[in-house]
Amino acid sequence: MDEEASVLVVGGSLVGLTASVLLGRHGVPHLVVERHRGTAIHPRAAAFHQRTLEIYRSAGLQAAVEQAAEREFVQNGAIMAVDRLAGKELAWFYRDVNHGVEHLSPARRIFITQIGLEPVLRDCAAGLGSDLRYATEMTGFTQDEEGVTAVIRPRDGGAERRVRARYMIAADGAHSPVRKALGIPMAGRGDFAQCFTIYFRADVRELLRGRNLSVVYVNQPGLLAFFRFSITADAGFLAVFRTDDSGAGHDEARCAALVRAALGVADDYPVEIENVQLWTAAANTAAAFRQGRVFLAGDAAHVMPPTGGFGGNTGVADVHNLVWKLAMVLDGRAGPALLDSYEAERRPIAALTVEQAYRRYVDRVDPTLPADGLESTLSDTGLELGAVYRSGAVVPDAGDDGARLEEPETPSGRPGTRLPHLWIDQDGAKVSTLDLAGEGFVLLAGAQGQAWTAAAERLGLPAHRVQDAGFRAAAGLADEGALLLRPDAVIGWRSRTAAADPDSMLAEALRRLSGR
Ligand SMILES: Cc1cc2nc3c(=O)[nH]c(=O)nc-3n(C[C@H](O)[C@H](O)[C@H](O)COP(=O)(O)OP(=O)(O)OC[C@H]3O[C@@H](n4cnc5c(N)ncnc54)[C@H](O)[C@@H]3O)c2cc1C
Repeated sequence: MDEEASVLVVGGSLVGLTASVLLGRHGVPHLVVERHRGTAIHPRAAAFHQRTLEIYRSAGLQAAVEQAAEREFVQNGAIMAVDRLAGKELAWFYRDVNHGVEHLSPARRIFITQIGLEPVLRDCAAGLGSDLRYATEMTGFTQDEEGVTAVIRPRDGGAERRVRARYMIAADGAHSPVRKALGIPMAGRGDFAQCFTIYFRADVRELLRGRNLSVVYVNQPGLLAFFRFSITADAGFLAVFRTDDSGAGHDEARCAALVRAALGVADDYPVEIENVQLWTAAANTAAAFRQGRVFLAGDAAHVMPPTGGFGGNTGVADVHNLVWKLAMVLDGRAGPALLDSYEAERRPIAALTVEQAYRRYVDRVDPTLPADGLESTLSDTGLELGAVYRSGAVVPDAGDDGARLEEPETPSGRPGTRLPHLWIDQDGAKVSTLDLAGEGFVLLAGAQGQAWTAAAERLGLPAHRVQDAGFRAAAGLADEGALLLRPDAVIGWRSRTAAADPDSMLAEALRRLSGR
């Protein structure tokens, strides 16, 4: 064997790089191979949700990501619809994407392109010792009981090398060669629009009329599309979902005409076309997120239309869910059964998110699409922050009602949900409750939970007593109660009150959570 790594990550774009940062934080030796020569050259994802920023916060990256975002966009913009940018306003989905959600999280929703974000992730991963290889393709793999053997090839010449890894993460995008090689089918609404993104330069300052617009849907009889503009208001892209001359090709003249129509300007208005990218709008989820020692994450596991900005965010949440489990299994803190919880937790929420992105596509873009069995719109905050996981890595409360989402405004603290955010004073510092998550399980007890913290200490488990009265209500605990927080800041177990034998109760909960 030429090389060895604990984890091989195939694909070093948004999701692969995030996996690399998180693996690095957990001290897991890994190799990332990416076919492209560097980080993203097209903006693509830009709307990043609070949960994603919480994940980057946990990796010490919140400030760096926010600073990079400020360089690209005026933050806290609107999401709205027009007939033409210069014309009639049709709907406002958000006047300010952060209005009313600031208190739910220590992080804000931000706008940053993949061009801006990926170098921050790359530099962080490299600083953590990650082995990132650009211009390197994974050309084939096999797996057995013990691990995965993959062949990698430098694009610019040089010999093929064989890599042996204990596990592989396929973050290789919507066309995922790994998923195809495993024979895992996709199911859902299928492909429903041949779309393209036009990158252009044009002065839109006057047309914006002082409005801070992050995403502008354009809805005209012959054109369904959305705009994003650069911070300098002299460039942007128009992502085109549908036109009434769909067979017309993507030449410069036609693309400039579409941009002018969407802007609502005259035929001679200066518009320079920089680039055009073709893509397919689809809403599909992989039938399985795992086969043996190979895990699918990001677009490899689910594809959805960009309406709602869920695609990349869902992929980041996938690897955040997976990496701590791999880290614990690899160093023996958990049994291999813990890894079964990845698909059990992520697949249902990803499938729900795919359907909800499709719902938003039907509502905002194309009401003529089939809507059989399509649920009505669920709240953005519920989808972004309120997943309820059920798996072997959660010890559920008795009498589970089966809810898939919870509104973060009214958290219950039930196991399987993200710990609600509160600013608290902890040992003299102002921190978010989410900052209390660690590299392993952590016990959080109420103000009178000394019996729990003492039991945790006997088990060698980090423990905090949280004095803040708000914590009790948010986590659904009495002052004498306690919960176990997983490394991903999801509540794994709780005892609402004191217990007769906290030592054995805690030991049993830990045993279950760690797949033993
Ligand atoms: C117009 C548009 C707007 C969008 N807006 C948003 C948004 O606002 N918010 C949001 O969250 N999402 C958005 N998305 C979706 C988002 O772009 C994707 O979900 C995200 O980029 C997926 O990231 P990924 O890392 O899973 O896959 P990709 O970005 O597709 O990366 C896969 C990588 O794997 C590499 N690769 C593949 N096979 C191999 C191999 N064999 N060896 C080596 N490397 C390989 C590829 O080169 C590629 O770089 C948008 C998408 C579009 C099209």
